[in-house]
Amino acid sequence: MIQLPTVSAELDSRGAQPFEDFAILLAELYPFVHENLERERVTEFGLLFRWAGATASAQPLVLMAHFDVVPVDESDTWTYPPFEGRVEQGWVYGRGALDDKGPLLAVLEAVENLLAAGFTPARDVYLSFGGNEETHGAAALSIATLLRERGIVPWLVLDEGGAVVDAPLPFALGSTALVGVGEKGVVTLRLSTRGDAGHASAPPSITAVGRIARAIDRLDAGTFPARTPAAITRMLSIFANKALGRDQTVLRTLATFPALTARVFAAMGGEPAALVRTTVAATMQQGGTAANVLPSQASATLNLRIALGETVAGTVRRVKRRIHDPLVEVTVVESSEPSPESPTDNAQFALITAAVEASYPDAATVPFVCLAASDSQHFHLFSPAVYRFAPLEMSNAQRASVHGVDERVEIASLEKGELFHRALLQRLQ
Ligand SMILES: [Zn+2]
Repeated sequence: MIQLPTVSAELDSRGAQPFEDFAILLAELYPFVHENLERERVTEFGLLFRWAGATASAQPLVLMAHFDVVPVDESDTWTYPPFEGRVEQGWVYGRGALDDKGPLLAVLEAVENLLAAGFTPARDVYLSFGGNEETHGAAALSIATLLRERGIVPWLVLDEGGAVVDAPLPFALGSTALVGVGEKGVVTLRLSTRGDAGHASAPPSITAVGRIARAIDRLDAGTFPARTPAAITRMLSIFANKALGRDQTVLRTLATFPALTARVFAAMGGEPAALVRTTVAATMQQGGTAANVLPSQASATLNLRIALGETVAGTVRRVKRRIHDPLVEVTVVESSEPSPESPTDNAQFALITAAVEASYPDAATVPFVCLAASDSQHFHLFSPAVYRFAPLEMSNAQRASVHGVDERVEIASLEKGELFHRALLQRLQ
């Protein structure tokens, strides 16, 4: 799978053949899946499989993954070539090992093995695989739309997002299965302004470049209020039950007082802060043409990740209010709303928890909020139970290798991932 360079962002230069070859490879690797499941191509890059369940009228399970990968930076030095698929001392190296070909493989291995054993799931099971997640392409959206048009409301949707990690936050120790119950929204904004060009020897009080810099400066970390999602409160109380002594007291307190948690997490910065508030990152800036010429225009690009419970429109309003400068124009480049929060007190979450117990007996299953968007965003519009969890172990170094250098997965972890999906399908009612 890794040897096929399904780099969606480089489709123009590489062509669609790797994606075609990937579909052919799946048919070779998983003959039972291809004999027993209905397969549909949805757009050029979507693969949808339907495994008929025992009760045709029951709402189905949808297992999602994507088979496109992000590009490799030629200047990075990988231990093994990123598209070689080297297997070395129990590890598989290469682009896509974790994101998201490893998780896709875990799903297919489980289905193939269950089919070989003559198993039939209790409900219909759809396997929804997209080939352009990384470029925000339409494959998963088209699959979601197709199911919706057919009147199908998934009982449970499971996609990438969380993983099995060690010590996910500074105060939480031990193996933890982080299950994303929601994902933040995204909005990319462009700030622009114009100024009078002229000689830089007699400048006005503020130039176009200065005006944009001032606008960015006004969008500090305190621009958006901090609020603790229900999932994070639940997460803290689960950690509290596992902790001892003073740690337990601290965690209990945080779990009891969400407003306090919001303040503490916001003050911690980094990932904890990103869990409780909308974040602003100025990512690009332009303006001016020469060192001694006043700039006639300047602009900046901001990337904001919108907290659960907020909206794109409300976020843009607040940004404009904060900048408080009518000469700075704010334009929305692209946006997607944050998801609602899926519940943790339902049969679906209990099923995920049971499958984690079967595959990672030492891991606590904990709800979480995903900071990045996934293909599952197209399902939460019509399915109330969307969860984001790939059943693979990821160390901090491995997490950094996703979209980075030396992406790798342990074969033992792929085996546990297969076990997770097998347990999930077997326990499905
Ligand atoms: Zn991914």
